[in-house]
Amino acid sequence: MGWNVCSMSNIRRSGEFVVPGERIGVIEEFIPNFGTYVENGVIYSRNAGYLLIDSAARKVSVYPAAKGLSFPKIGSIVVGYVVNIQGSTAFIRIIKIGKKDLSGFLTGALHVSDIDVKYTKEILNAIKVGDLIRAKVISDTNRIFHLTTKGENLGVILALCSKCGGTLMLKNRRSKQLYCGECGNSETRKIASDYGSGNM
Ligand SMILES: [Zn+2]
Repeated sequence: MGWNVCSMSNIRRSGEFVVPGERIGVIEEFIPNFGTYVENGVIYSRNAGYLLIDSAARKVSVYPAAKGLSFPKIGSIVVGYVVNIQGSTAFIRIIKIGKKDLSGFLTGALHVSDIDVKYTKEILNAIKVGDLIRAKVISDTNRIFHLTTKGENLGVILALCSKCGGTLMLKNRRSKQLYCGECGNSETRKIASDYGSGNM
């Protein structure tokens, strides 16, 4: 779901197991992210774990191999990145359950009707790919984790400018309007009450 296979030669796939020091790719291909390091333009794995290639953002991460994977329950608060938006549903790569970092691959789905207590007409005015969000699990049937961001403390906790990638800052808490410190671009999100505080 959204994890496309890289079409270049020496193909790397999400979910592939890698060991520390293993060559993953080069910085021209990918932006090195969590669990990687770079030497002379080559990206290596820091961990024994699983590759996660975000083909939209061209980011590559390595998630530590799971030691007893835990799953969120109904009511669990999770933190994750928006990795894909298809139609009226955003897909979230869950990285934290409660205070606990998550190893392994878990995806949550956030439907546009579950974003805010007020009606959200256009999903992209409330959430975008790359946003870090805090959400609550409302259903876990077949280990498909349906999420909601309805509630003061739920929603986007960090977002990047869709024009330049700069960090979006809060203009004022009442309008929930965000602006880019780099280019001045203005955007909206369904933000959590502690947007930008650094709290996960
Ligand atoms: Zn910007």
